[in-house]
Amino acid sequence: MAPKKRPASQAAKAGKKRKDVDQGASGLAYMTSYESAVLAEYVWLDAKQVPRSKTMTMTTLPKSIEGLRVWNYDGSSTEQADGHNSEIYLYPKAIFKDPFRGRPHILVLAEAYNAWDGQPAIGNTRAECKKIMDQYKDLDPWFGIEQEYTLMRPGRIGEEPKVPLGFNADGTEPAPQGPYYTGAGFNTAIGRPVADEHYKKCLEAGVKIAGINAEVMPGQWEFQVGPCRGVEMGDHLTIARYIMLRITESHNCICSFSPKPMDGDWNGAGCHTNFSVSPMRKDGGYDIINKVCEAFGKVAAEHIAEYGEGNEKRLTGKHETCAITDFKYGVANRGASIRIPRETEKDGKGYMEDRRPAANCDPYKATLLFMMLGNLGIAF
Ligand code: ADP
Ligand code: MN
Ligand code: MN
Ligand code: MN
Ligand code: MN
Repeated sequence: MAPKKRPASQAAKAGKKRKDVDQGASGLAYMTSYESAVLAEYVWLDAKQVPRSKTMTMTTLPKSIEGLRVWNYDGSSTEQADGHNSEIYLYPKAIFKDPFRGRPHILVLAEAYNAWDGQPAIGNTRAECKKIMDQYKDLDPWFGIEQEYTLMRPGRIGEEPKVPLGFNADGTEPAPQGPYYTGAGFNTAIGRPVADEHYKKCLEAGVKIAGINAEVMPGQWEFQVGPCRGVEMGDHLTIARYIMLRITESHNCICSFSPKPMDGDWNGAGCHTNFSVSPMRKDGGYDIINKVCEAFGKVAAEHIAEYGEGNEKRLTGKHETCAITDFKYGVANRGASIRIPRETEKDGKGYMEDRRPAANCDPYKATLLFMMLGNLGIAF
């Protein structure tokens, strides 16, 4: 990743004093040259778990997380702190490439902590997720999330948008669902430049994006992230969501992660979460998957509580969902809460797909819930 021929960083390596840098009293280096700067975009989640970011000038590309500073921001502006005690610390946790600024610039996924008591800030569930994933790391959990989203017409600034792309500005409706899912062509695939640019930028950033497709409602799309291991699932999905927000800045539309962006006979948007632990991927895994599905049925309400706000509008039993009050699992069943892929049944091993999480779900919470298998009486 280290760029070639960057005289500043070579000088730094040799321990020489740099001419273009004013070594400030704080010991921090202040850049005067764009050519030798590395811009680090710190990304974190606010109280509503929406990604926010700000940029720091660095003089060299950090080799690892340890080379990045703990930073801070004003939590009173993000509903995470009071004005009189507003500081929130940012602890760097993962480095991605910055696909917007290009090399050598980076995106830094950071965790937010209250300065006053050292606890994770409101909205920071990564800390807890990481703890659980470390505890169960021998099970080598894999996840894959299918993030659905809906591109919306811009409305009043700062307000939730109400009209999806493909619907008229006055809210009048396009022809019913049918041609849009995986469709191609003008007036059928609506918003492809956004979906495609997002795909490319995720790959450039190093996000493990597995594919994309147009979805059932006009203006609705999906991207898949995974397989990812443990806490990496939440990290990669968070950065993928952040990249989407950035891309829509230049496409005159808004990305909504609402589970039901349009009332009526229109599909909602979910975050199907595919899951396996190593015993599920080995011979005999199919039996374990069935046991896990049974156990999940007993705690369905607890799971639903963490699967996103407004999900009751989506999980109606229609539009390829199982009703929120029901729990069903089955092979190849897209009207079930949990679908076991046909391949998994055939091979006797593989993974399961929880179809209940909403598009706005917290991936750290959802994935950590999957790991509570021990509490469900499942032993491996
Ligand atoms: P669907 O048929 O439900 O639309 P997709 O192809 O959109 O499925 O997504 C399937 C997801 O499953 C991918 O994100 C992939 O990473 C994930 N996946 C595949 N194998 C496994 C596995 N063994 N464990 C966990 N996730 C997996
Ligand atoms: Mn300021
Ligand atoms: Mn899919
Ligand atoms: Mn889908
Ligand atoms: Mn799916």
